[in-house]
Amino acid sequence: MIKLHNAIVITHAGECLSHRDIYIEGGRIARICESGTPVQGAAPTDTVDCSSYFVSPGLVNLHAHTAMNLFKGIAEDVSAEIWFNDMIWPYESRMTDRDIYAGTLLGIAEMLNNGVTAAADHYFGEEQVLRAAKETGIRMDIAPTVFGMTPDYRDRLAQVSAFIQNHREDSPRITLRFGPHSDYTCPGDTLAEIVDAARRMGLPIHLHLSETRLQVEQSLERTGRTPFQRLRDAGGFDLPVLVAHGLWVTEDDLALLGDDTWFAFCPKTYMRLAAGRGGFFEHADRLHFSFGTDGAASSGSVNVLEQARLYAMLDKFERDDATLRPALEIWRRLMAGHAVFGAGTGKIEENATADLVIWDLQTPDTMAYYHPVSAILYAANSANVRYTMVEGEFLKYDGRLKMDFPAVAREAMALQKALLARGKGRAKVYY
Ligand SMILES: [Zn+2]
Repeated sequence: MIKLHNAIVITHAGECLSHRDIYIEGGRIARICESGTPVQGAAPTDTVDCSSYFVSPGLVNLHAHTAMNLFKGIAEDVSAEIWFNDMIWPYESRMTDRDIYAGTLLGIAEMLNNGVTAAADHYFGEEQVLRAAKETGIRMDIAPTVFGMTPDYRDRLAQVSAFIQNHREDSPRITLRFGPHSDYTCPGDTLAEIVDAARRMGLPIHLHLSETRLQVEQSLERTGRTPFQRLRDAGGFDLPVLVAHGLWVTEDDLALLGDDTWFAFCPKTYMRLAAGRGGFFEHADRLHFSFGTDGAASSGSVNVLEQARLYAMLDKFERDDATLRPALEIWRRLMAGHAVFGAGTGKIEENATADLVIWDLQTPDTMAYYHPVSAILYAANSANVRYTMVEGEFLKYDGRLKMDFPAVAREAMALQKALLARGKGRAKVYY
């Protein structure tokens, strides 16, 4: 049993409840009471004095290519076309299992350090992603990426189906789903085939849709339908869907969405790759959405708090209205993303799964604060994340990651050099 002594709780709705003792046992919040209330049962094995700390649910990242932390900074200040076709996809084509494993560890380290307790990953090399997730203890929803246009597409879909079948019961912290890369890389019937495979196994899907204006225009030109309409015709909206981006979602697309269609919005990537304003901002209030980071090669980080911060500021700035997107609304959006994982996380209340962050706001970055939610949203960084807990287990403790980060960093630097020396290969797909 772990006791968090005398904390101020920040709820998922952004309310503050002071002087709370929180008892954690078996991965769950067993008891919350007024501080000092006697509690029966075994004495805590670990007590953290939270008298000057805040406790909130963990942060969730709804769209990440976690392994791409190995590519952080490799392609800067280039167009999206150059970024994909001349840089990322050629380098990725020569990625090894060791690269994927090390890159995923790097990404997980960054997330845990920043209070991210759960991430929805979309990448290939899924065996390595799974291994890194299990070893570190983060909660992860893994969607192995499938391209529908490569010569080995059928073998790849069979491989992914087998992987999912073999690992779907591995751990309560791991969930799996199908990850068609996008509508534009899954031409013809391939999108419907992948959706079918997901339906047969009773699983959801996670894919990129309508990231840029060009993608929507080309989809209309080639198929007469928007990317969302193509997914509808493939049966995709019969299943729970996690849409990465949807920046260029149209008014007509909205009618296609289900109650279990979620968007992962990643504004830092859109700003860095100049993806345009898109329709998302206007339609946001009618969508289920939370935030994602995309890969660190495009967004520069997998710290989802930064994306939420940028979303609020971008909307205020562009619409010339500082009252838009107040901090509490953004906090609730961040917390809403827990629903995608279906793990009973996202609330600090009895019986909730204990995925949480202990914040120290008495640091140079956040002092003097007046409301902890706005301090976190607009001023906090990883130094304010004192502890990160997933399912009752501390993965960051008193400011230090549990995983051996210096070893991960050494391996990553060696692999980064090897990757540059090996050079670019031939991309399997074209953006
Ligand atoms: Zn992405």
